[in-house]
Amino acid sequence: MAAKRDYYEILGVSKTATDEELKKSYRKLALKFHPDRNPNDKDAEEKFKEAAEAYEVLSNKEKRAKYDQFGHAGVDGPGFGGAGAGMNMDDIFSMFGDIFGGRGGFGGFSGFGGFGSERTRAGARVNKGSSLRIKIKLTLEDIEKGIEKKIKVNKYVTCNECHGSGAKKGSETTKCSTCHGAGYVTQVQRTILGNMQTQTTCPTCQGEGKIIKDKCTVCHGDGIVKSEEVLTINIPAGVADGMQISFPGLGNAGVRNGVNGDLIVSIEEIPHENFERDGNNICLQTYVTVSEAILGTTLEVPTLGGQAKFKIEQGMTSGKVYRLRGKGLPDVNGYGKGDMLVRVDVWIPKSYSKEEKKILEDLQKSENFKPKPSAKEKSFFEKMKNMFN
Ligand SMILES: [Zn+2]
Ligand SMILES: [Zn+2]
Repeated sequence: MAAKRDYYEILGVSKTATDEELKKSYRKLALKFHPDRNPNDKDAEEKFKEAAEAYEVLSNKEKRAKYDQFGHAGVDGPGFGGAGAGMNMDDIFSMFGDIFGGRGGFGGFSGFGGFGSERTRAGARVNKGSSLRIKIKLTLEDIEKGIEKKIKVNKYVTCNECHGSGAKKGSETTKCSTCHGAGYVTQVQRTILGNMQTQTTCPTCQGEGKIIKDKCTVCHGDGIVKSEEVLTINIPAGVADGMQISFPGLGNAGVRNGVNGDLIVSIEEIPHENFERDGNNICLQTYVTVSEAILGTTLEVPTLGGQAKFKIEQGMTSGKVYRLRGKGLPDVNGYGKGDMLVRVDVWIPKSYSKEEKKILEDLQKSENFKPKPSAKEKSFFEKMKNMFN
């Protein structure tokens, strides 16, 4: 695979570009390289995808920060919504809802057949609603189990007054007489090679196949209105910060009984007070007393699923890491569970009483307490010596 180009370079903007500049530049490129304008042009398609990927990352504050800090490595991992892992055309088109301010699809882009819309069997255009994007904050506990969330959103829904038709009550919707409801017109051109047929979107009905005489007074003919709705969504266990989950059909309603757009949920992980996350592993740092490290003990620690116990052997070295298998997070794709990693350090008090000092001084005299490192424990020193030779 060829090295990836810099996202800023792709969009032709500076590193300090504002959101508005990014949007403007992306819009220009998307229109220039759009597949409908460059049919069967692989190079244009690649450029189209490349620009979409660059914009997808740079338009997201967190992803942009990660990209600025770590480059492509910062946003290519599996936890980042798959940017760079290759976006498909559907993903890219769903982004357009935001870019072009598309209220309910792309009615304004009649030049692009099928652009962000679907067609019925008869061929007429069905408007697709734009994607709805929300952020959800989750604790590690939520992520460990997976969670059902009820969220209140403001979105476009089907107009109750006209049931989505966009027509005033009592007023009829008639079949477009130009295209007879097909949504497109066929033109025949005589050429030197014979007759050539081209199909274009019907200019009378903009591809919808029908004409509204009197517009609904509530939705002004769009068939959709803004409303508050409570959505219930299931977030699977094991998701990570920055991940995006798509729920088809839960986004904005499409214009005039079109199809619903998607709901795209970005995951935000709330930092945990005890644990650090490392992929699917959960890390914890804790202490034992000097005597526990010397004599050994059983340690009880919190995990995401309650308390867990494990043995500290006699003569533990400070900084040792214990692995509690399967006590981490489930893999989001169902590939087992991560572990819990517990780093145990020896707690050294900062001050001592007279009595304590006496005991320690007695211990110090004991032959057994004098350092007698094994060959393995010496190896660090050996290495140091070799370094200076
Ligand atoms: Zn209406
Ligand atoms: Zn028509």
